[in-house]
Amino acid sequence: LKSTGEHLVAMASHEIRTPLNGIIGFTDLLKESELSEEQKQQVSAIQSASYNLMDIISELMEYSKLSAGLEHFEAVNFNFYSLVRDVMYLCNILIMDKDVKLEVDMDTKIPEMLVGDPSKLSQILLNLIGNAIKFVNKGDIHLKIHAKKQNNKDIVLDFAIIDTGIGISENNIEHIFDAFRQAENDTFKKYGCSGLGLNIVKQIIKNLNGNINVSSKLGEGTTFNFELPFVIGVEMLNETEQEKKVTNTNRKDQVKGMQILVFEDNLLNQKLIE
Ligand code: ADP
Repeated sequence: LKSTGEHLVAMASHEIRTPLNGIIGFTDLLKESELSEEQKQQVSAIQSASYNLMDIISELMEYSKLSAGLEHFEAVNFNFYSLVRDVMYLCNILIMDKDVKLEVDMDTKIPEMLVGDPSKLSQILLNLIGNAIKFVNKGDIHLKIHAKKQNNKDIVLDFAIIDTGIGISENNIEHIFDAFRQAENDTFKKYGCSGLGLNIVKQIIKNLNGNINVSSKLGEGTTFNFELPFVIGVEMLNETEQEKKVTNTNRKDQVKGMQILVFEDNLLNQKLIE
């Protein structure tokens, strides 16, 4: 452990999330009841502030876990193409209200199955593409992926997230990966961010033996480049069968008539589950 302070933040953040989940859950229930237009807006405001707080707490928790060396990293076999598809699906939802085009350019020589940490890779991509979406009002975002080095056992992938957004000034770019840092002073007010995202991304990439760089021009756009090594994975024969099974089963039918045992010590959440 680096410091008990970081450990404390990680633990406290976890404790704060429990009652916050209760607040979010109850506003969900409240939204389903008879409300006047004004009340609906007020409930939505509580909910959006709660989600914002949840994001900040989650980032704070992850930041302290990473800094204290408590974060867990996996090395599992995963389908790289499905992961990229899922990330793009989520990002396409985020750009629905914007005049922004999202494009992927991927080297098809990359093997389908890789061994690594899929949830951390999704997190890195979602964070960087999410930032690009935040800072581009009109234009393009490109995700380019190619194999930099490859033999029959290992591969190093090079990722680039290129946007035509607001860009970052020369003065600010050198501090861009620092914690609690936003390029422009009004970013928090305008976009409601914590300034931890890029620091978390950098720490994760370092832990996965990769590296990240940025280049940008104010008013023209920004490019984030990162490299990550993977071991080449093995093909799973029954994977499509498993996928079919999961998507075809209706979740409501699955729990019909079942008794469910729930462990929850928080009173607010006990009531919510009921
Ligand atoms: P935040 O949670 O504030 O978004 P980040 O660490 O992800 O924190 O980003 C830090 C700052 O870097 C942002 O507030 C923004 O000023 C700048 N930034 C990050 N990505 C981009 C981008 N694609 N284009 C322009 N500015 C960016």
